[in-house]
Amino acid sequence: LNPQIASLPTTIFTVMSALATRHGAINLGQGFPDTEGPAHLTEAAAAALRDGRNQYAPLTGLPELREAVARSNARFYGLTVDPASEVVVTSGATEAIAASLAALVSPGDEVVVIEPAYDTYLPVIRLLGAIPKLVRLTPPAWSVPRDALAAAFGPKTKAILLNSPMNPCGKVFTPEELGFVAGLVQQYDTYAICDEVYEHLTFGARHIPLMTLPGMRDRCLRIGSAGKSFSLTGWKVGYITAPAALATVVAKAHQNLVFATAPNLQRAVATGLDQDTDYFTTLAQDMALRRDILAAGLRETGFDVLPCDGTYFLTADIRPLGSVVQDGEDDQTWCRRMVEEAGVAMIPVSAFYDPAGGEPPLHLVRFAFCKKPLILEQAITRLRDRV
Ligand code: PMP
Ligand code: GLN
Repeated sequence: LNPQIASLPTTIFTVMSALATRHGAINLGQGFPDTEGPAHLTEAAAAALRDGRNQYAPLTGLPELREAVARSNARFYGLTVDPASEVVVTSGATEAIAASLAALVSPGDEVVVIEPAYDTYLPVIRLLGAIPKLVRLTPPAWSVPRDALAAAFGPKTKAILLNSPMNPCGKVFTPEELGFVAGLVQQYDTYAICDEVYEHLTFGARHIPLMTLPGMRDRCLRIGSAGKSFSLTGWKVGYITAPAALATVVAKAHQNLVFATAPNLQRAVATGLDQDTDYFTTLAQDMALRRDILAAGLRETGFDVLPCDGTYFLTADIRPLGSVVQDGEDDQTWCRRMVEEAGVAMIPVSAFYDPAGGEPPLHLVRFAFCKKPLILEQAITRLRDRV
């Protein structure tokens, strides 16, 4: 057995969802919407199934989806993208991240990763024999420690993996922060893997792809996900936009990991990307309402709520709950106890930190608010009754 893989814990999202099921808890842990995506998309997928779209799709994706990805890049960000050579469709952003890393890094290369980090980043980097250089944002504002970020870059740096809007902390990187990152990427002649799966879920703050900054067009692999943009997380359809020289190598990684992604789903996702801008605006507005309901309820309950400008996640500080947090209890223990005692599942934020990197914050929890307002209200009532 490969000890690097065998020793990995089961992902916290699966662990907390299983606990939620066992205890009949409201699941505000794992991030998935409790309403289906647009009916015309599920209809389009079903129609494509019936139409006989059931054999292998082309390796880099259906032309109609690659064209829709290129159109979406132009419409939202003014990017000119060649659908034939600069787009690769993947089986979810998870595969897109792995394929991008596989395309770029060799053993011994360094990859700059910002913590709190999505849980697949570090295992894949290490599996490839590369070395993560970790930089921690500073809560509660989740600010970027610029000196530490600059110090993480060096002659061995191959790439930075940047997630904006950022899970779990709801941070949307500002133009100044992005400019700082872009400066480092260029200074060290490296690349950026841009996990932008929450690109359409921002509230007030504007999402700016790093790829649109001067000098960054040929250094970025920009990753999107139909799961997030269309509330269809089970479909696992992702897409990468990258300069042709990189996309060609990413396609070779994809070829050997998955080869091709379900064609009926790809066809429906193309329809989704081509929807009116209204769809995307409404998606974000709806989510902002949910964030507000949850944030207000948590504040009334006694949590300190941290800022959230994007994604469908909110982080909160449990320390003000005082006696409800037992002596020496950390976020992991507290979340496991609350799923049982309050009937609400959350995610401990320390799960987004490398255990080898020193003590992470142990007082923060993440709530997913991509749930019906009534469910959010019920969760708040349960928490209020317990804490
Ligand atoms: N990156 C981030 C930051 C995510 O939150 C997620 C999904 N939770 C993914 C990647 C994976 O997306 P997908 O489901 O499309 O593989
Ligand atoms: N990305 C989702 C989250 O952060 C979960 C995805 C998964 O369960 N693998 O909650």
